[in-house]
Order: sequence, then C-alpha cells, then structure tokens
Amino acid sequence: MKKIIILIGPPACGKGTQAKKIAANHNYIHISTGELLRKMATDQNLGEKEKVALEEMKKGKLVPDWLIYDLAFKMIEKCLDEGKGVVLDGVIRSLKQAEKFQQYFKENKLINELQAVEITLTDQESLERSTKRRICKECKEIIPWLPATYEIKNCPKCSGELEIRSDDSPEIIKKRIVEQGNVVLKPILEYYKNAGFLKSIDGMKDIEGVWKDLQQLIK
Ligand code: AMP
Repeated sequence: MKKIIILIGPPACGKGTQAKKIAANHNYIHISTGELLRKMATDQNLGEKEKVALEEMKKGKLVPDWLIYDLAFKMIEKCLDEGKGVVLDGVIRSLKQAEKFQQYFKENKLINELQAVEITLTDQESLERSTKRRICKECKEIIPWLPATYEIKNCPKCSGELEIRSDDSPEIIKKRIVEQGNVVLKPILEYYKNAGFLKSIDGMKDIEGVWKDLQQLIK
C-alpha cells in the first residue's frame, strides 16, 4: 500500500468514514483538516490571525492556505517519521493546494508513495446527506445519515449529545457546495489524473460497498 492516500470528493461523500476504516484496519493515521480546524476553533487562546481565518469556515468558505499547510505538513511529517501511513481526508481542496502538496511530496521524496482516490457523489446527494448528518457535541464524531443511524439519539462512541454541524445548515451547505463541490473539484481531479495518481470509486454505494471498492484500489 502507498504511504499517502489522498481522498477527494464533495461534502458528505464518505471521505471521513472511509478514512477511519483505513486507519482502523491498517497502520495509518486519519488526517482531516476539517476536524483539526473544528478542534482549533474551541481553543480559547487562539491568536487574532487564526480567529479571522476560522471565520471563513463558519461561512462555508475555504480557510486560507497557510493554515492548511501549517496543520497538515507538520502532522504528515510526524506520522511518517513514526513509520505510519497517512490518509488525507479533504486536506486538498484547490488546484493551488494540490500543487503545493505535490511540491512538498517531491521535496520530501514521497512522490512514489501517493495514491489519490476520488469518491464520486452528485451535488444533489451531497446537499441531502450534509444537511441530515450529525456531529457529537463532545468527541466530534460525525454520524452519517443512514438507515442504521436514523434513530440514534446519542454518540455511539462516547454517548455525547448529537447536533447538526453549524456549517451543515441548509444555507451554509449550499455555499459549501459552490465552494467545494464537483465544479471546484474538477481541476484538482484533472491534475491528479494527468499526473497518473488518480483512481475513482462510486460514493453512491453504501459504506461497505464503497469500502470493498476502496480496498481493491489501495491494496
Ligand atoms: P470538512 O470537515 O472536511 O467538511 O471541512 C470543514 C471546513 O473546514 C470546510 O468547509 C472548510 O471551511 C475547512 N477546510 C477543511 N479542509 C480545508 C482545506 N484543505 N482548505 C481550506 N479549507 C478547508
């Protein structure tokens, strides 16, 4: 398996769920910049520059690139140094970021360790899933909207109370789909395709169906 797996897809395509499965089944660390940013937003001692940057997330927009590079490069380096692989969940969301990460991978002689995987989902389905999924107030686990979870009232991991993510409200998620949906992803996917790193799986299948396809691709 390649040491660096890059998952790309619109909001709620299942990147987080599948990244967790890779981490649970292999010696990989799940890196989600969305999760890191949400944790960061709860820090009472944040500097003014970071506070301003995080405001973008609340509006459904992308946060500035410097914050992503700050969070991701350090963490990738640490995990690889510890002999672990990394699965990057939504860490690369613009062509500019893809190019910067590629430069980082080249400089660190990691270019042969890359596998980019697109999880396809229509914007319509992305909108529907995003507005219905929930997050645990305590541990921040995301509970996808599935028949098996419709009735769940508390977090299956820590029993914490569940809520809708503030950036998953219908108004914000519409903005996120404009900013982070299929139209925006196209040039990133072209970039990885032309570089020969891209494989694609159908995100409309259920979790186990996507997982089965993903395992075939990354083995
Ligand atoms: P997610 O949890 O992956 O849906 O991400 C939540 C939010 O974090 C996004 O809507 C963005 O505001 C921000 N974010 C996460 N990753 C990135 C990134 N690579 N570039 C810019 N913003 C990001």
